[in-house]
Amino acid sequence: MNNFFSLPEGYKNEEMEADILIVGGGSAGLSCAYQIQKKFNELKSVNDPLVAGKEAPMIIVLEKGSEIGAHSLSGAVLNPIALKELIPNYLELQCPIESAVTGDSVYYLTQSSSLKLPMTPPPFKNHGNYILSISKFNRWLGGLCEAQGINVFPGFSAVEALYEGNKIIGVRTGDKGRDKDGAPKTNFEPGIIIKSKITIFAEGTRGSLFKAVSKKLNLRKGKNPEVFEEGVKEIIQCEKGSLVPGQVIHTMGYPLSKSIGGTFLYTLPEDKIILGLVAYLDTKDPYLDPHRELQKLKTHPFIQKFIKGGKVLAYGGKTLPAGGWYSMPQLFGEGWMVVGDSASMVDVQKLKGIHLSMKSGMLSGEVALESFLKDDVSENFLNSYELKINQSFIKEELYKVRNFHQTLSKGMFSSLPMLALQELTGGRGLFDKLPVHEDAKTTATVMEIWGENAGSNKDLKLPPLDGHLSMDKLSSVYLTGTIHDEHSPNHLLLQNADTCRSVCEPKYKSPCTHFCPAAVYEMIPSEKYSDQKELKINYTNCIHCKTCDIKCPFENIDWTPPEGGGGPKYIET
Ligand SMILES: Cc1cc2nc3c(=O)[nH]c(=O)nc-3n(C[C@H](O)[C@H](O)[C@H](O)COP(=O)(O)OP(=O)(O)OC[C@H]3O[C@@H](n4cnc5c(N)ncnc54)[C@H](O)[C@@H]3O)c2cc1C
Ligand code: SF4
Ligand code: SF4
Repeated sequence: MNNFFSLPEGYKNEEMEADILIVGGGSAGLSCAYQIQKKFNELKSVNDPLVAGKEAPMIIVLEKGSEIGAHSLSGAVLNPIALKELIPNYLELQCPIESAVTGDSVYYLTQSSSLKLPMTPPPFKNHGNYILSISKFNRWLGGLCEAQGINVFPGFSAVEALYEGNKIIGVRTGDKGRDKDGAPKTNFEPGIIIKSKITIFAEGTRGSLFKAVSKKLNLRKGKNPEVFEEGVKEIIQCEKGSLVPGQVIHTMGYPLSKSIGGTFLYTLPEDKIILGLVAYLDTKDPYLDPHRELQKLKTHPFIQKFIKGGKVLAYGGKTLPAGGWYSMPQLFGEGWMVVGDSASMVDVQKLKGIHLSMKSGMLSGEVALESFLKDDVSENFLNSYELKINQSFIKEELYKVRNFHQTLSKGMFSSLPMLALQELTGGRGLFDKLPVHEDAKTTATVMEIWGENAGSNKDLKLPPLDGHLSMDKLSSVYLTGTIHDEHSPNHLLLQNADTCRSVCEPKYKSPCTHFCPAAVYEMIPSEKYSDQKELKINYTNCIHCKTCDIKCPFENIDWTPPEGGGGPKYIET
């Protein structure tokens, strides 16, 4: 496995020490780091005895993207509740807000018409919220952290958590400069062992380290499994003078026919538009392809009104956790805590997680600082993080929608009475703690979903592509700026190639070749087995959305962090 090649002779892993190590430089990790330093400064300024004679903790933030923000992708409509608490003078500090929300509406789309809901349902109301680019926002937040003296290290993938018994004592970062087979190249640099009193997992959706930690420490016992949505998004330059900024529009219905999901359209200054589509990954459809659905969406007359004559400037894709309250794992243990998307803290009804990730980061930061100052990293002490979550707006918000995903999964219309009942009963409904199915277990065969004539079904066809407003996946990937060294090891670890060839392709038509938003997977004629196809993995295209790790029906792919600095280079997503 690429992250576990043994070190060549003569090399050893350098060691570093930190007081608080944060894995992941997204809104959760950066808010955590900022809050630690801010609270420390506050205690110093009032001569609190807790900090008497003490230096600020040494904080390290590791980020696998080439720079902060390079792997950040979101809608993104921000509820500024956590931002206002963390950085009250955010406007003065030039927080990169694109627009305040000036209007919101919801539409139902059929194939050729649109129906506006007479009033915007409360979860879709966005008065007081901001539209922004999470990539720009995180870069701004990262800059503020650095200005506070926090060590922010982009270009470093954490590949392994380090233990002493069940206590987490830090991580190892990945080696750099290995060739395809793992052999060292001339620029080889071994990974670094970073030992830390406290480690905070802020890896975002389907964190790869935290996935392994959860398994080893059995952190999901008694919880619902993690479930996800897959989202794709484009930024489109529209015709001059055609848009009023600040509009937030959500649609349901077309183009998704076999999966639950919806679309979002946000208008920005300078006649730019954010257009995106999200789909539940518990779909039975083996042909789910959000990129194709997004291209279809753009042909709809309602959407055409906004984008006709426009040009796609940026593209990206990412999963987001959808299970909410009942899918949250144990949040702390000896020497560690978990925050944000890695802990499933997303309000999936509102499609919002940034404020929750920031707040969880802030709360974990407060606990980490106290734990550092009192020199106590025991599970007992870090328990106060979970208590703080339970007393915060995180619980208030997520608990109200604790059965939402499970119910909506049953069908857009058939779920409406149950969703209404949940609204009336504070999220309870008729039955509480509705179960969920793991996304990997729900895929049905092509025959079951599409019947015999799938090949000729027009729902599965891409519309005619013009190369600037509608495009194929490879052209879209080009817009993400994705780079992985083609002479580095494949980070997408295939467990069993025979399963792809002899079971998955014949019955399921290889769902990864459809759901991957970056054309990484391809079935090519087998040289060894006549009339059969083999999986080819174009791993250099990977945009780190994590769908393959979640949705392969045979759990045949293990997504591992590639060499630090690889992956997309998002600028304004
Ligand atoms: C399509 C879509 C639309 C959305 N729309 C909205 C919206 O409108 N409003 C809203 O509030 N929320 C929205 N969300 C959800 C929101 O984006 C997330 O909840 C939020 O960004 C999560 O922040 P995070 O810090 O937990 O994770 P992330 O922002 O994903 O940050 C995690 C970081 O950790 C890094 N990382 C991961 N693993 C490692 C490793 N092993 N080593 C080093 N670094 C690592 C990653 O590169 C990444 O930068 C949307 C999400 C999607 C996908
Ligand atoms: S990786 Fe998974 S989805 Fe892809 S062909 Fe193999 S078994 Fe099927
Ligand atoms: S290979 Fe996997 S993680 Fe990478 S873009 Fe495709 S589905 Fe997403």
